Amino acid sequence: MTAQIEDYYPPETFARIKAFADNHETPFLVVDTKLIDRSYDELVAAFPMAKVFYAVKANPAPEVIDLLKAKGSNFDIASIYELDRVLAAGVSPDCVSYGNTIKKAKDIRYFYERGVRLFATDSEADLRNIAKAAPGSKVYARVLTEGTHTADWPLSRKFGCTNDMAMDLLVLARDLGLEPYGISFHVGSQQRDIGAWDAALAKVKGIFERLQEEDGIKLKMINMGGGFPGNYVMRTNELRTYAEEIIRYLEEDFGDDMPEIILEPGRSMVANAGVLVSEVVLISRKARHSLHRWIYVDVGKFSGLIETMDEALKYPIYTEKNGEVEEVIIAGPTCDSADILYEDYKYELPLNLAIGDRLYWFTTGAYTTSYSAIEFNGFPPLKSYYI
Ligand SMILES: *Cc1c(COP(=O)(O)O)cnc(C)c1O
Repeated sequence: MTAQIEDYYPPETFARIKAFADNHETPFLVVDTKLIDRSYDELVAAFPMAKVFYAVKANPAPEVIDLLKAKGSNFDIASIYELDRVLAAGVSPDCVSYGNTIKKAKDIRYFYERGVRLFATDSEADLRNIAKAAPGSKVYARVLTEGTHTADWPLSRKFGCTNDMAMDLLVLARDLGLEPYGISFHVGSQQRDIGAWDAALAKVKGIFERLQEEDGIKLKMINMGGGFPGNYVMRTNELRTYAEEIIRYLEEDFGDDMPEIILEPGRSMVANAGVLVSEVVLISRKARHSLHRWIYVDVGKFSGLIETMDEALKYPIYTEKNGEVEEVIIAGPTCDSADILYEDYKYELPLNLAIGDRLYWFTTGAYTTSYSAIEFNGFPPLKSYYI
């Protein structure tokens, strides 16, 4: 049950990554930027009517930002630091949206002064700050979504408000001199149930209709967030299938009066492009007759694999060793017992796996480097290379 290369990468792509990896000391992430290039093209082909705002937090490497800027992407930004980075790359402020609903008034001002005019909100206090610090800007209200149990990394609860609250906010936005522009939602990251978009779009349609009828406000935009899949152990439909279904929901709900559509892919844009290369530090059994070996590796929760929290994301793991396999527990190198990666979910690794062997973690281009601690136990942050 170790991952097979051909299920995840064209063989020549993996050969290129491995040739690079062979000359470097573990642990590190290698990202093949050609795969990001391809994901962008696939997304645009699948959703020809949509504007893409790459969610920078998924992988903020300058190489990724430069590539996506050259391809015509826009950027979803969550902080002044991410903003500085994309503006330094030469991205125009009209290609930026401030998508974080939790922000300081002075940070809103910072975005406004640099030319950003598109803001997300989900609360009255934030909206009033936007009206003061970014007068006249476009705002969209983020609504809560359901169905998050089918998302491997839910982004709900903390963000968004009810439909009624979203309508109140957009009316207030108008009264405060802002432009009530649209609605956003995020169905949860690595969302395996495409029906989650159907439910979310039905809510959005209700808001569009009621705002128009009751308040004379015609919204212009739907931001469908991220949630599109990467290739992990738990397989999903292809992006193409997501797009076909979601476009059908959009057509059913909005027909000839289709608003502007925004997508904010993070994971699906960069996850598949990365391979994290690690080495086995130690293998042990904790009792004479214990059934499971512990495999300790030189990466863990604090060096990029935080999405193993609650074993939420299951990365495909590849080793060059093969033969008979056995269930193992996999843990990181630090002195924190939270640094166990997989214990309930049993990976099976070859019995002949030995200390010093490499394990390749597929689909690690998203949410790894940006989450890595800077020096827990003195371990340096996860290195990454873009080839
Ligand atoms: C994190 C985030 C995204 C990206 O989500 P993915 O599931 O990684 O595609 C998009 N929009 C917002 C507002 C986010 O916070």
